[in-house]
Amino acid sequence: MESTKILLDENEMPKKWYNILADLPTPLAPPLNPATNEPIGPEDLAAIFPMELIKQEMSPEQYIDIPEEVRDIYRLWRPSPVYRAHRLEKALGTPAKIYYKYEGVSPAGSHKPNTSIPQAYYNMKEGVERITTETGAGQWGSALSLACNYFDMECKVYMVRSSFKQKPYRKSLINLWGATVVPSPSPDTQFGRKILEEFPDTSGSLGIAISEAIEDAALHDNTKYSLGSVLNHVMLHQTVIGLETQKQLEKVDEYPDVVIGCCGGGSNLAGLSFPYLKDKINGKKDVEVIAVEPSACPTLTKGKYEYDFGDTAEMTPLLKMYTLGHAFVPPAIHAGGLRYHGDSPIISNLYADGLITAEAYHQIEIFEAAVTFARSEGIVPAPESAHAIKSAIEHALKCKQSGEEKTILFGLSGHGHFDMASYDKYFSKELSNE
Ligand SMILES: *Cc1c(COP(=O)(O)O)cnc(C)c1O
Repeated sequence: MESTKILLDENEMPKKWYNILADLPTPLAPPLNPATNEPIGPEDLAAIFPMELIKQEMSPEQYIDIPEEVRDIYRLWRPSPVYRAHRLEKALGTPAKIYYKYEGVSPAGSHKPNTSIPQAYYNMKEGVERITTETGAGQWGSALSLACNYFDMECKVYMVRSSFKQKPYRKSLINLWGATVVPSPSPDTQFGRKILEEFPDTSGSLGIAISEAIEDAALHDNTKYSLGSVLNHVMLHQTVIGLETQKQLEKVDEYPDVVIGCCGGGSNLAGLSFPYLKDKINGKKDVEVIAVEPSACPTLTKGKYEYDFGDTAEMTPLLKMYTLGHAFVPPAIHAGGLRYHGDSPIISNLYADGLITAEAYHQIEIFEAAVTFARSEGIVPAPESAHAIKSAIEHALKCKQSGEEKTILFGLSGHGHFDMASYDKYFSKELSNE
């Protein structure tokens, strides 16, 4: 009988992360200092990041050791399972084989602890006592509060106001693990106060929340800032997902034709796909990698590839990336984790080189796909993850028409147990079709 769940032993968990910077066909455009337009050096980032993460951000090494203390915590839920979606295949009547890597088994319910744990660890090692961050849907805020709790550090989370209202239980989770959370824009920072004065009814944005968290870190000596996506070191940490998946699919003699991930800042897609893209870049295997985004925030499909700020207040270095402009405030869609104006510079580089393609879908069809999945496979997907499901379903249905037996792999980046209010809205037809 063909297996449903493909598992690895704890001792098969990767000991190194894969750094795609070593293999990019086009070198990454450097981050620039906005005042001088010169590439920034490590010292420019030292006020907000620990040195080890700055080193990883620029490292030319192809593989980087995962510290034993980090692997020790990873072991609480890693290696995560790969599932064969037998029931979804049957429901669709497709000849395609569908596999998904499930990251919802982490304590925070998403892939984000893969990077929050090492980030908190390296900060702790360098004597940092407090970390600030932003969060959209609350997934990152809860993942970082979990990580800071393991290492006895303080954590303050600036949470995008629309999500603060939509996802009250993510807030509770952040508090449960011992962090503080405020809605952004908040009266706690100069930038927050300015936005509140100008736009008292704003739903907030990730760009605004990032500005507040950076301002807070820059003003406190014992504090550094942490970002849950976009940056190179975050993509690096997430590759534990794809490295495990490769071993798992090897066990059943499979290599995917298509690898799909939802894409906000790009970290879960990077994590799943970069080890496969290594084979593609080296000409070893051909694989189609697809980034799926909301039509309401179409960064890759409609954005421009240019230097832009990572935040709204123009405090970050300039990053070369696909962007909708740093003043862009997307509609308050329920996939809060996909509401970022920019994209990872590495994902952008690969997209510009044609190594990754992109698709965008509207909110209602995303929830339809989520319900199809929950009613076949059982797992309730996060609305973000449902973007990957939607694309996987589309590709499986194409196979049904053409008769192709493709192997489709997608990333199920998290569960939707804190998104039930959004599902309720979908069922009562109150969801706008952004
Ligand atoms: C944060 C999040 C995303 C989007 O972020 P990426 O960096 O693009 O992965 C997607 N899915 C879930 C479940 C998330 O929590």
